[in-house]
Amino acid sequence: MTSYLELTDVNKTFGDFTALDGVNLSVEKGEFVTFLGPSGSGKTTTLMIIAGFEKATRGDVMIEGRSISALAPHERNIGIVFQNYALFPHKTAADNVYFPLQMRGVGRTEGLKKAEEMLGLVGLKGFSHRYPKELSGGQQQRVALARALVFEPSLLLLDEPLGALDKNLREQMQIEIKRIQRSLGVTTIFVTHDQSEAMSMSDRIVVFEKGEIQQAATPLDIYHKPQTRFVANFVGESNLVPATIVDGTKGVARTQALGDCDYQPAAPLDAGRPVSLLIRPEHIKLSRQPIDGRKNVSMHVDTIVNYGDNALVIGNVGDQQMRVRVLGRDVVVIRENEDCTISWPSEAVFVIPEGKGA
Ligand code: ATP
Repeated sequence: MTSYLELTDVNKTFGDFTALDGVNLSVEKGEFVTFLGPSGSGKTTTLMIIAGFEKATRGDVMIEGRSISALAPHERNIGIVFQNYALFPHKTAADNVYFPLQMRGVGRTEGLKKAEEMLGLVGLKGFSHRYPKELSGGQQQRVALARALVFEPSLLLLDEPLGALDKNLREQMQIEIKRIQRSLGVTTIFVTHDQSEAMSMSDRIVVFEKGEIQQAATPLDIYHKPQTRFVANFVGESNLVPATIVDGTKGVARTQALGDCDYQPAAPLDAGRPVSLLIRPEHIKLSRQPIDGRKNVSMHVDTIVNYGDNALVIGNVGDQQMRVRVLGRDVVVIRENEDCTISWPSEAVFVIPEGKGA
C-alpha cells in the first residue's frame, strides 16, 4: 500500500554543495511528523521541495500515489506556516484568513463565515476585526495557522512556527497545535531544532544530519533505540562508551574504562564487532556502596550541577567521563572531588553498532 506522502530518493544540490542526499520518507494520512536536526541539516530544504518552492535536483514527491513534482506551489493544496508570521499588515485577522479562499474563488460572505469558524478553532473568537499590529506574537501565529488550514489543505507544513515565541507561550502553542491537528486529522510536517518540542508533539520524528535522514521513528524509539551515535547524542543526554562485543548471544561487551558490561541483546552481533554502549544518565544510580544485581563501578565526582528538583553529576571512571542524573535528594550522598559508586542494570545498556555494516 502506498503512503499518503512519499519522498523517493530526493537530492538537492546548490552549485557543488549537496544539501540533500538520497532522502526517502513515507508519511501516513493524519500523521504528525517532525523534522529534527541541527542548523543546515536539510530540514527546510526538504519542506520547501514538498511545498514546491524549491525543485529537487533528483527524486520525486508524491501525494496519494501521484507525483506533485511538476505542480506549482499553489496547485499543491498545501498549507504552510513559517516562523515569521507573514500576515498581510493592512488586512484584518478575518481578511487574512479569508485570503486563500478568495484566491480559490470563494465569495466574501461564505469565505468570511469560514474564516470566523477557523479563527474560533484556533482560539481567536472575537478577534476577527483586529489588524496584525493589534495582536500579540502568539495571536498572530494563530491567525497564520488558521489561514493555512481554512482551505482544508491535504498537507500542513510548519517551519519553526514557534521559534519567535517565549517559552511559556511556546509550550501553550505546542499543545494547541497538537489539539487542532488531531481534531482536523490533517497530515502535518513540523520543522524544529528543539528536541523537547519534537518529543512532545510528534507521532514520528525524522532526524536529519548533513542532508541525510539518520533515523525516522516514534519519539520513544528515537530516545531509547537510537540507531546511530549522532541520534543518541542529539536527542537527550547520553553516555556513549566505546566497546567491542565479547558475546553477542549472551550480551557481553568489553570496554576499556568500565570493564565488561552486560546488555540485553536485541540483534545478533559478531564477537569483535566495534559498538558504542549508550547509557542514559537517568538510568544510572549513584550510591555509597555497590548494589547487588547491577554493574557497579567507582566514579570520581568532578562537578555537581543543581537544578532544584534534580542534579547532574559529572565524573570520571578512568578516562571515561560519565554523566549521572539524580533526583535532588539523592545528591546529598555525594560531594565534588569524592569517589562514589555508580551502577545500572543490563536493561539500561543499549548497543549501537559502529563501523562497517552499521
Ligand atoms: P535551519 O535549522 O538553520 O533552518 P535546516 O536544517 O533547515 O537549517 P536548510 O535550510 O535545509 O537547513 O539548509 C541545508 C543546507 O543547504 C545548508 O547548508 C544551507 O546553507 C544550504 N542552502 C539552503 N538554501 C540554499 C541556497 N538557496 N543556496 C545555497 N545553499 C543553500
